[in-house]
Amino acid sequence: MNQIKALREHINKARTAVIVSHYNPDGDAIGSSLAMGHYLSRSGVEVQVIMPNDCPDFLKWIPGHEAVMVYEQSREAAEKLIEKADLIFCMDFNHLTRIKEMGHAVARSKAWKVMIDHHVNPDAFPDFLYHNPRASSTAELVYELILELGDKERIDREIAACIYTGILTDTGAFQFSSTTPRVHRVAADLLETGINGYEIYDKIFNSYDENRLKFFGFCWTRRMEIIAGGRAGIIGVSAADQFRFKLKKGDTEGLVNTPLQIKGVVLSAFAKVQDKVVKLSFRSKGHIDVNQLARSYFNGGGHVNAAGGMMEEPLEDVMKKLKKIIPEYLKQYQNKENENV
Ligand code: 5GP
Ligand code: MN
Repeated sequence: MNQIKALREHINKARTAVIVSHYNPDGDAIGSSLAMGHYLSRSGVEVQVIMPNDCPDFLKWIPGHEAVMVYEQSREAAEKLIEKADLIFCMDFNHLTRIKEMGHAVARSKAWKVMIDHHVNPDAFPDFLYHNPRASSTAELVYELILELGDKERIDREIAACIYTGILTDTGAFQFSSTTPRVHRVAADLLETGINGYEIYDKIFNSYDENRLKFFGFCWTRRMEIIAGGRAGIIGVSAADQFRFKLKKGDTEGLVNTPLQIKGVVLSAFAKVQDKVVKLSFRSKGHIDVNQLARSYFNGGGHVNAAGGMMEEPLEDVMKKLKKIIPEYLKQYQNKENENV
C-alpha cells in the first residue's frame, strides 16, 4: 500500500498519538513537533508532545508549548502514554539514542511508528519513514507531508508559526546553504496565513540577556583559537566559564557559527562542559563533511555542514584532540577542485 495512504488510514483510526523529539530540543524539534501535534489534533487524534528535557526560554512562546510534557519531570506519566499510544511520531532525530532513556520506552511500545527527519542515516525501526537529508529542517518536511496528505487548508496560523520557527532556526534565518528556493516558497505560503515573520524572528533571535553577549565577547577574545593554517576555528568553554557568565540553557546557541565569519575558516568546532561530559558542535562550509568527522572521532553525527558529538574526557584532552584531528581531517579537502568554500 502507498505509504502516505497507510499514514492517512492510521491517523484516521488512531485515538492517541505521542510526538517525541531529541534531547536538548531546538527550534526545529519544538516547531516540527508542535506543528504535527496541532495537525493531528485537528484530525481528531488525542495528542501529547513529550520532550526528553526542557527547551530554552526563547522557544517557550510557541503555540502549544504550555502543554508539552518533559520526560525528565514526568517519567511515569510519559512512559504510560508512550506504551498506550496508537501512533508515535519521532521528529528531527534519526536514532533512538538521541532521546536518551525515553528511547527504551519508544522501542518497547507497540504503537505504529513514524519518523520525520532530515538527518543522514536514519535508523530502521520506524514503520513509516518520511525523510529527506536535503530538507532544510524537519519542520519543512512536516509542511510537505501535510500537503501530501491533502490537508493544506488545515495549516492555520498556529501550525504556520510552528513550522516557520523550525525553518527559521535550522536555516539560521535563511542564511545556511540548506535554504533552497523551495524553502522560500514554503516560508511565503506560511506568511500568507497571516503570521508575522519579523515578530517570530525577534522573539527567537533578539531575546538574550546582556551576559550572553559578554560571554560571546569573552569567547572570541580568550577562548577562540584559529588552527589548521587559518582553515579552522575552535572554542572550548569550561563549567567555570559558564558559571562566570551565569549562562542559561540556549545561551551558547549560535556561538559555533561565528568562527566561520573569519575569511578562510571553513570548519568550526565548539566544545563545552555539560553534565560532566564535553558536548561538541561542528559547523563547516561547502563539501567539508563534519557529520563524518563527528561520527568517526567524536561519538556523534548530524549533517554535512552541522553536526555534534560527545566525549567523556576532560575539556583539555578534547581540545588537544580537536587540534590534532581537525588539521589532519582537512587535508583531504586541500586540493579538491570546486571546493566551493
Ligand atoms: P548542534 O551543534 O546544534 O547541537 O547540533 C548540530 C546538528 O548535529 C544537529 O542536527 C543535531 O541533530 C546533530 N547532533 C548534535 N549532537 C549530536 C550527537 O551527540 N549525536 C548525533 N548523532 N548528532 C548530534
Ligand atoms: Mn532539524
